[in-house]
Amino acid sequence: MKDTTHDFPDGRIFVGGTWEHGQGAPITSTFSHDGSANITFNGASREDGERAIARAKAAQADPAWRNMLPHERAKLLHRIADGIEANIDRISRLQSRDTGKTLTETAALAASAVGTFRYFAAVLETSDETLTSRRGTSLTASVHEPIGVVGAITPWNSPIASDAQKLAPALAAGNAVVLKPSSWSPLVSLELARICEEAGLPKGLLSVLPGSGREVGNLIVEHADIGRIAFTGGTDTGRRLGEQAGRKLMPISLELGGKSPTIVFEDADQDLAVAGILFGIFSSSGQSCIAGSRLFVQRSIYDAFVEKLVAATKKLRVGDPFAKGTQVAPLINTEHRDAVEGYIKGAVEEGGEILCGGKRPEGDQYANGAYIEPTIIAGLPNTAKTCREEIFGPVLVVLPFDDEADVIAQGNDNDYGLACGIWTRDFPRAWCVAGAIKAGTVWINTYKQFSISTPFGGDGASGMGREKGREGLRVWQRQKGIYCDLTGQPHPWAGVPA
Ligand code: NAD
Repeated sequence: MKDTTHDFPDGRIFVGGTWEHGQGAPITSTFSHDGSANITFNGASREDGERAIARAKAAQADPAWRNMLPHERAKLLHRIADGIEANIDRISRLQSRDTGKTLTETAALAASAVGTFRYFAAVLETSDETLTSRRGTSLTASVHEPIGVVGAITPWNSPIASDAQKLAPALAAGNAVVLKPSSWSPLVSLELARICEEAGLPKGLLSVLPGSGREVGNLIVEHADIGRIAFTGGTDTGRRLGEQAGRKLMPISLELGGKSPTIVFEDADQDLAVAGILFGIFSSSGQSCIAGSRLFVQRSIYDAFVEKLVAATKKLRVGDPFAKGTQVAPLINTEHRDAVEGYIKGAVEEGGEILCGGKRPEGDQYANGAYIEPTIIAGLPNTAKTCREEIFGPVLVVLPFDDEADVIAQGNDNDYGLACGIWTRDFPRAWCVAGAIKAGTVWINTYKQFSISTPFGGDGASGMGREKGREGLRVWQRQKGIYCDLTGQPHPWAGVPA
């Protein structure tokens, strides 16, 4: 492997606490700046998955884990957070090699994973069981228990952050977790397994199984011993998994795609709006579920604002994710780059006008990389395919609107409902639009800001269920009502025994 920043045993996967050679198809992680291979190894097979689940079941049933007191389990989560924190530099380099994201972005993702483990340690220690109001002669209580063995299936765009968002609350809740990261970005999830192991997570409670979605992912969803799934990924996959979970009557949360509207009213601070919009769509090269990929600008300022935005976009620094100052790095790989290019071609065929970008950057340093210039497209109606479908690349469509009612109608006229950005100095108006727009998260005069204490999720084709926040622990537990008789008397229905 060219990059030596990982600590897990080379070429192995983590099967129920043991580093083993996978029995599945080979996986190659590439560095998308120049197309070089980081590492090739065998991913997990169905049999590896079966073994992982069996070990997880045994480990979770062990009273030492199942009955571990919350403050003791919280200590373990803090040790995992410490392990990530001590290695942020190394982890971010690894993730930049694996995904092509800039070092600034991957360092932020690693730092957010630290925060996630610490937050759920705190939630665990402060989430009380409740005595409920008595309605009779019993003491009544609501308590929470682990589900058992649970599955986490994650995509390639922000692996350590999406892994942590599932692992931290699931382990806090007392479960064992079988994690399947994407084959396109397997390395950081394996490194996280190594850190959990070093932190003293009991053997068997975690498996990390990079491998085929149809083989290993499908096994995790269908397996009778898996009691809950948290999935982050594309909408088509999410729908399929939702159907499978429904047949099993198994809870599932689905964090899916988006085509999020950003709205600029005529009274907005335009410099702030331009900076926020650039960050919202072009950071991570647009490979972000919450990317603000549909921009609505009020007609009275449309021409001048779009001109300003295009000028700022042309100044973005596109390049090597490891180079200081890079803002727009390559996409995950050339396969995905080709798919994004297909969308740009489709936009032109639909009658769209490319205002900037739309092609690969020129120059030797880009020759072997999965690059696309930041692209802005105008002149399409909201009904065009380019405006309806998630592109998952550095591509922004701009559309004009007349007034609040018009932009709410256009913004909501889309299957997705993940996020929205609103730029205005009129706070009551912003509040009103925020309430009317179909989105799990709304940002006012900012974009793509995250807090682990604020719930996150989507509506419509963007999924169902929420992660993060205090309630993020409860979704990984079963709730149970307990009644305890206080009278010591036989039930009157039965009469007094002779
Ligand atoms: P994907 O749906 O192709 O894959 C996601 C994961 O599911 C991968 O690990 C994959 O191997 C697995 N998978 C695929 N088919 C499966 C099957 N039949 N059974 C079980 N598992 C299966 O998505 P992707 O291309 O990896 O990620 C990009 C998508 O993820 C985008 O649509 C993006 O918007 C979405 N995403 C959503 C969020 C969110 O929080 N809403 C966050 C990040 C990414």
